[in-house]
Amino acid sequence: MKIGIVGCAGRMGRMVVAEVLTTDGVELAGGTEAPGSDFIGQDVAALAGMGAGAEAVGIAPGIKIGGDAGALFQDSDVVIDFTVPAATAGHAGLAGGNGCALIVGTTGLEAEHMDALASAAEKAVVVQAANMSVGVNLLLGLTEQVAGALGDEYDIEIFEMHHRHKVDAPSGTALALGQAAAAGRGVDLNQVSKRGRDGNTGPRNPGDIGFAVLRGGDVAGDHTVIFAGDGERIELTHKAGNRSVFARGAVRAALWTAKQKPGLYSMRDVLGLG
Ligand code: NAD
Repeated sequence: MKIGIVGCAGRMGRMVVAEVLTTDGVELAGGTEAPGSDFIGQDVAALAGMGAGAEAVGIAPGIKIGGDAGALFQDSDVVIDFTVPAATAGHAGLAGGNGCALIVGTTGLEAEHMDALASAAEKAVVVQAANMSVGVNLLLGLTEQVAGALGDEYDIEIFEMHHRHKVDAPSGTALALGQAAAAGRGVDLNQVSKRGRDGNTGPRNPGDIGFAVLRGGDVAGDHTVIFAGDGERIELTHKAGNRSVFARGAVRAALWTAKQKPGLYSMRDVLGLG
């Protein structure tokens, strides 16, 4: 299986390059960066910290970062995308046009970007997940189950913390946990979501699902779903130790696409938790 990596110089892109280069049964087709990026022309493997070793064993002999996503989609069986929403929508068009599978880890996707993924999924296998780790996908199921079992007298609050460079908030994972909690309660998250509190907010509305966001340091991703009742509190927590857990999940999803029909899938489908 030939895997292309768009955004291969990014924090996640580099982790995915390293994961692809050390996974049996897959081959690095190439990597791209944003048009005009200074990274174009640099060695993909070296940037991922694998340079000399990778070349020495012949697994990535001098593949340079490119700027032509169209060519990469033609050369790849699967492309993995951890970039920015506008770029992801463009990549979805290329996936559909080439029948190339696409794994999307980019977060902050709006309706227009999701529409692009849905169109691509008519002709290609598309896996989209705000979090590619096994643990978080288990947490999604548990959150839905607990929210369904407990009534409105348990207030649901979702906490997340990420590194100082993260640009979207709340995290895509926090929002997915909110969706899971809302699904468990049989309500629409848009109607009950409470994002950020400041000043004289008044008392909490029953049924709200609240979000709290922290940013700092190099935190790879902490998420906690709190069910706060009178006299007791249930907390479900996941902490990612480092980003390799997401890269591993993305490559696992890429391998999974080989036997699937075109469609839009989630990581829960990949892991058989759907
Ligand atoms: P980053 O800014 O380090 O990397 C993004 C890269 O994409 C950059 O190198 C940028 O130049 C590149 N890029 C932008 N436009 C491009 C284009 N048109 N073509 C090719 N490359 C382009 O960010 P990051 O920390 O690697 O995170 C990337 C995304 O992945 C974010 O949305 C983040 O929230 C998400 N993320 C998801 C998971 C998950 O498990 N799903 C895990 C971690 C991060």
